[in-house]
Amino acid sequence: MTLSIRWKVALAILFALVCGFVVAGLLTARSLAEQELAQSERALEVSTNLIAFDLRPLVRGSLPLPPMPQLQAMVRELSHRAHARVTLVDASGRVRADSAVRDEDLADIENHRTRPEIEQAITTGAGTDLRASHTTGERTLYRAVRLDQLASPSTALYLRLGLPMTTLEQELATLKRNLTLAFGSAFLIAVALSIWLARSLTKPLSDMATAARQLAGGNLAVHVETSARDEVGLLAHTLNHMTEELRSKIEQLSEDRAQLLAMLTSMVEGVMVLDSKGRILQVNPAWERMFGVTRAEARGRHSSDVFAHPKLNATVSAVLTARAGQEAEIVLTNGRCLNVEASVAGGEQDNEACAVLVFHDITELRRLEHIRKDFVANVSHELRTPLTSIKGYVEALLDGGKDDPETSVRFLDIILKQSDRLNLILEDLLQLSKIESGQVQFKQEPLHVGSVVDRTIAMIKPLADKKQHRLRAQVDADLPIINGDQERLVQVLANLLDNAIKYTPEGGEITVAARRIPVLAHRTADGPHTGVELTVTDTGIGIPEKDRPRVFERFYRVDKARSRELGGTGLGLAIVKHIVEGHGGQIRVEGNVPNGSRFVVCLPAEPEDRD
Ligand code: ADP
Repeated sequence: MTLSIRWKVALAILFALVCGFVVAGLLTARSLAEQELAQSERALEVSTNLIAFDLRPLVRGSLPLPPMPQLQAMVRELSHRAHARVTLVDASGRVRADSAVRDEDLADIENHRTRPEIEQAITTGAGTDLRASHTTGERTLYRAVRLDQLASPSTALYLRLGLPMTTLEQELATLKRNLTLAFGSAFLIAVALSIWLARSLTKPLSDMATAARQLAGGNLAVHVETSARDEVGLLAHTLNHMTEELRSKIEQLSEDRAQLLAMLTSMVEGVMVLDSKGRILQVNPAWERMFGVTRAEARGRHSSDVFAHPKLNATVSAVLTARAGQEAEIVLTNGRCLNVEASVAGGEQDNEACAVLVFHDITELRRLEHIRKDFVANVSHELRTPLTSIKGYVEALLDGGKDDPETSVRFLDIILKQSDRLNLILEDLLQLSKIESGQVQFKQEPLHVGSVVDRTIAMIKPLADKKQHRLRAQVDADLPIINGDQERLVQVLANLLDNAIKYTPEGGEITVAARRIPVLAHRTADGPHTGVELTVTDTGIGIPEKDRPRVFERFYRVDKARSRELGGTGLGLAIVKHIVEGHGGQIRVEGNVPNGSRFVVCLPAEPEDRD
């Protein structure tokens, strides 16, 4: 069992007190006993001398001693006066009279020659002894004197006084009892005082122990209250200071951690931290999205167990073994292309960051690069085709074709058409590049889509008529006003209608419709915006589903030969998409049932006055 400091202190104090009390009690009792004895000795000496003085006539001269009864009566009388036993002993040790012995028993009394006080008195004239009486059995203090100092020791008579010490012993017992009582009461008070003292001494310590326990439990708001200015106070002050320091350090660490976490969380790049054995220590949300693995699933596992990607595993092994930065490009099974930058972090122990891998999703970059390369190839191809044609016909003319007027007119006509086509491509390219680079500013004027539809249909109708198409317009009456550039929106609709006419065999049906729709994507503080949905539907050849998302790319054509034959540049829809998006709208293409295509343009309206 372990005792608390409080009890150790209390018991130590009590032990010291008990020892003190016992020693003090013993010493007091002893010194009192000695004092009492010395006093009794003095009193007995005085009494002995006085009685010896009284008995002087008895030993003067050579008178025989009075008879025994008379002697006995005398010693009893003296005993009564001196409050002591009086004995008369002759030099041979025979007891001649004794106040404590009956007359008839006197003859039987033991010879007193060998009693220490008598022996001393025979030798020196006086003797003292303290012992239990052979006759009475009581502890008795004896004093013996030779009655006549001048007489020879062998003939002299000796007076002995015996003072029973019963009273003294009773007094001592009473004294001891009183002392015990006093010390007992003092002890009880001391117990209470020592417990109080121990408590007041150890309370700050136990307070500090409680505070330290709370601190270890994570409560950083603990504060030890103390008014002590001693070492305990200093300790409490140090503990409070330490808590304060700890709190500020932890706050700083938490802040740093939160900032770091915010950085990692907001990064678009995936981050993976590995230890020296290749186990995953940390990943960020972007990494989780890239690999479709949660942090909880990934942490603690070996990276090669999480993704079985040979190139990535090779990069991980390389950075861990070579301890040098690595870079790689990997393609995941879902088609995403990632650039991996692996750098060394330095830690060598388990659970210490050893390598950090940053994953950049470069899928879009690679796609754009691909589009750019395609674009360059397409432009070259598109330009080369009419140029080759022009060159061929010019050479044919030079080779003699010019001599035949009919041939030269036909050839020159072809050269003119190809030149027009070249011009058209260049114009479209120029326009597209201007829109893409932001050089074209769209006007922001309030306009009604109905007027855009009317103007375009009036413009395009002759073309539709040429192919005997039925051109219909369905414009709702409650269309909201939109903000935009009328000329550009006419260009959009004209392009869509031109395509519909081109890619619909003769006698088809082309419908332009405009209706009001809620455009939830453009919700603002003043309520949901409405918008206008403009659709161009034809009954033509349609666009296969797989080609639909790509028809808005530059030079993308479903059927290149047919498009070229129909005079298309492959840039129309790309321009349309840019204009629509420049107005904050969206465009998509769907299939028309049973055949044909439907191009859908959604344009946001300007916020309406809701009063
Ligand atoms: P083009 O000048 O070749 O028409 P566009 O950019 O306008 O180029 O159109 C891209 C391609 O989309 C066309 O080549 C054609 O294959 C397809 N396309 C566009 N509109 C339609 C339509 N209404 N019906 C069928 N195919 C269409």
